[in-house]
Amino acid sequence: MDLEDIRKHYERMSDSQLILVLTTNARGIRPEVFEIIEKELKKRRLNPNLLDGALAQNKEYSLEEIESYSELLRELPCPICKRKELKLNGTIRYTVTSFIVFTSASAEPIIACPNCLDKKNNNAMIFTVFLGWWSIPWGFLKTPLYIYRNYKAKKENRLKESNNALIAFVLEHIGEIETYKQDEKMLSYIIENYEL
Ligand SMILES: [Zn+2]
Repeated sequence: MDLEDIRKHYERMSDSQLILVLTTNARGIRPEVFEIIEKELKKRRLNPNLLDGALAQNKEYSLEEIESYSELLRELPCPICKRKELKLNGTIRYTVTSFIVFTSASAEPIIACPNCLDKKNNNAMIFTVFLGWWSIPWGFLKTPLYIYRNYKAKKENRLKESNNALIAFVLEHIGEIETYKQDEKMLSYIIENYEL
């Protein structure tokens, strides 16, 4: 696509499509395209930080930089219990559910306070013990593995620093975090949205 086609492509998007692309799917946008995006945002009077969010997805980060993004999330109230005393961190909730003809295994990231993270991993283990094992072969084989993964993830829930699950979440959502870094409500929305 030449630049004119790209310009038209963005022009045809609705505001919500454009926001979604810029905050979550802007990896690999060519440098010369950012000027087009900037003009499109101005024309629509959309939040100019959306451009920063798109740029953020195309940068390399040092550990300190990632840490400063993750601190923004860690200071938020817990999306589950709403408390603010403990700094938030991340975990992965691993579950296996067996149905009559198939087994579904999932790994969902969760950002919350350490107490709520522990509860999520515990519940996932109980859930998997009861609902995971009985389908042969996958339910039976995956159940102990997924229980072990919750157990392992749980060990990182009370780390003082940002744990691996949180860092992975930050990298995955860097465009959204950069765009809304001064907007606590939106940051809360980003972490809440992935809490199940
Ligand atoms: Zn909590």
